[in-house]
This record gives sequence, C-alpha cells and structure tokens, in this order.
Amino acid sequence: RIIASYNQDEDNINVVVRVRPLSDKEIKAGDDMVVQFPGNGQVMVDAIPGGPGGGQKARLFSYNVVFEPAATQEDVLQYSGMKRLIEMAVEGFRCTCFCYGQTGSGKTHTLTGPPGLAVPYSDDHGLVFRSFVYLFQLLQEHTGRTFVLKASFLEIYNEKVIDLLNPGTCRKPLAVRWSKKARGFFVENLFTVDCEELDDLMAVLEEGIRNRSVGRHNMNDYSSRSHTILSVHITSEEPSENGVFISRFGKINFVDLAGSEMTKKTQSEGKTLEEANNINKSLMVLGYCIASLSDPKRKGTHIPYRDSKLTKLLADSLAGNGVTLMIACISPARSNIFETINTLRYAARAK
Ligand code: ADP
Ligand code: MG
Repeated sequence: RIIASYNQDEDNINVVVRVRPLSDKEIKAGDDMVVQFPGNGQVMVDAIPGGPGGGQKARLFSYNVVFEPAATQEDVLQYSGMKRLIEMAVEGFRCTCFCYGQTGSGKTHTLTGPPGLAVPYSDDHGLVFRSFVYLFQLLQEHTGRTFVLKASFLEIYNEKVIDLLNPGTCRKPLAVRWSKKARGFFVENLFTVDCEELDDLMAVLEEGIRNRSVGRHNMNDYSSRSHTILSVHITSEEPSENGVFISRFGKINFVDLAGSEMTKKTQSEGKTLEEANNINKSLMVLGYCIASLSDPKRKGTHIPYRDSKLTKLLADSLAGNGVTLMIACISPARSNIFETINTLRYAARAK
C-alpha cells in the first residue's frame, strides 16, 4: 500500500500530499519518521513533546490523495488527478498544478525529477515530462482537430518576472499587464516557443532549467526563493457540421513554488528582508485566494489576485472555469516537524 487513499472528487481544487522518503543523511543522523498513514486521505503527525506547541496530541489532516514515500513518479501522474487537468486543458480549460512545501521536501523532484535526465524513458522523470507524454497521446486521439502548442517558462524572483527562455532579455524583468481584450493578465514580451512534438516541449523544460541556474553562486538558495511557471498553451480548431470552426484555448501551468519556510524568514535585514517579504506575500496571497475559492461560504467575495505577480498570472486558472491541483510536499523527518505541520495546515485550508 503506497497510496494512502483515494478520495478523488470533481472539485475545482484538488489537494494531494506527497511524503518523500527519509534521506540517507537523515537516516545517518538518526532522524526518524513522524508521519503516519491511517488511510482515507489522512496524514497523522506525531505529537511534539515539550517546546512551542508541545504537549499536544498527534494531529490528523485529510486531503484527496496521500502519496506515501514508496509512491513512484508514475503513481503521482496516475492518481493525483493530473490526467484530468490535461484532459480539461485539451478541451479549452485553464489548469494549474503547483507544488508547495519547504526547501528539500521534493517539489522539484516531483515536477521535473533529477536534473540532466535524457529524454529516453526513465523512472525518475517527473510529472511535467509524464504530462507531456500523456498530452501528445490525447492529441493523437483527437483526429478531427488541428492543434497548435506553445510553451513559455518564467521565473518570479522578488516580485520580478524573468524570462527563462529568452537569453536576450534574460535577467531583465518583464512587465505584467492587464489585457482588456483577453480580460486577463499577461507578461509583456514573454518568449513563447511553438512546440510540434514531445522533444520541443522537453527542450523548453531543459532550456528553462539551464537558464535558471546561469550565474547563480548558490543555486539552491536562489531556487528556494523564486517561483517558476512553465505554461503550455493548447489551441485547437475543429470543423463543425455547419462549416463553422470551433476554437478552443486551453492552458496548463506547472508551478514550482518558493520554499514555504520563507514565510517565516523575516528576521533578516536589507534586501533579504524585502525578498522575504515578497516571497512571504505571494505565498500568503496564493493561500488566501485558494482558501477563498474552495470555501463555498466565501463565494462572490473579493479575491485578491492583484496582490502578487504570482496570483495575477494564475488568476485565469484559479478564478475561471479551470481546475487546480495542489501537491503539498513534505519531509517525514522529525527534524522538519514544524515545517511539515505548517505545510499540512496550508494545504488543508485549500481543501
Ligand atoms: P525542493 O525542490 O522541494 O527543494 P527537491 O525536489 O530538490 O526539493 O528534493 C530534495 C532532495 O530529496 C533531492 O535530492 C531529491 O532527489 C530528493 N527527493 C525528493 N523527493 C523524493 C522522492 N519522492 N523520492 C526520492 N528522492 C526524493
Ligand atoms: Mg526545488
């Protein structure tokens, strides 16, 4: 039993949890597992003896699906609800999959897998690659339609949008504007690549990852502070009976969020404080937007998409008729118990 449960529903927001295995380093240091799997979409975290918040009972949280440490990358594609997002994007909906969690919890592993994977099939390939494969499978089944795929890849660092595909403008921040015509936010001058086959989409993924690490002295530190959004636009046309074409404009976003521990790191000074505040803010605004959307009592109330670049760019998929999948990544180790509880709380609010 590697998938603790399966409560898939037809909600617009699905929340799943993935628990990574203990790392070799944690095992060597004598760290132990504080997370248990009672089934029914639940995760239980041990009581914290003593300390702040200590002396409390074990905590229980529930979600749509829980992936235990032995779950594979393919399990995540098959059982997270991701396939439904891709199917809906092909039908013209705007969908978003994002990974949330502290640095080192497995967000990048879940989305892209280890760096430098060659295109031939590997067990380590992440959700993005597997989604691309499934997408092309779907396109081949829709023989009556003509499809055009375009992809873009950007990074939001300290509330600045950086194009990860266009080395010419690389590191020069791009503006986020509102389009009256499209009734949505867009990034001005963002490079988009036409993608005819799987290799083209994979090239976008690899190029973006490569550009992300250029000129970074401490890659892990930087990547823990920035959000990345890889978007695939799926446009299709289908002739109908009376000769009129049916056009569909779907989109799918893959979002690797900044480390959630950044919401706490506000003690630092100067530029770092500004960064911490900005990261803090976009994760908080995202959490607030999602909680508002998933709470029927708050239907019709104001949702603050405009309060961060991240939520502006995800607004069409969060607000409209799109579907969102949140993958909360956690470490099972005792040394991470406070961040784990914070992540589980954030994710539970979205459910
Ligand atoms: P994050 O992006 O959240 O900072 P990473 O994805 O970089 O975290 O993961 C941290 C480390 O843990 C990496 O070495 C990664 O390979 C490993 N890891 C994460 N999740 C898993 C998993 N499900 N199975 C095996 N190793 C994992
Ligand atoms: Mg990462």
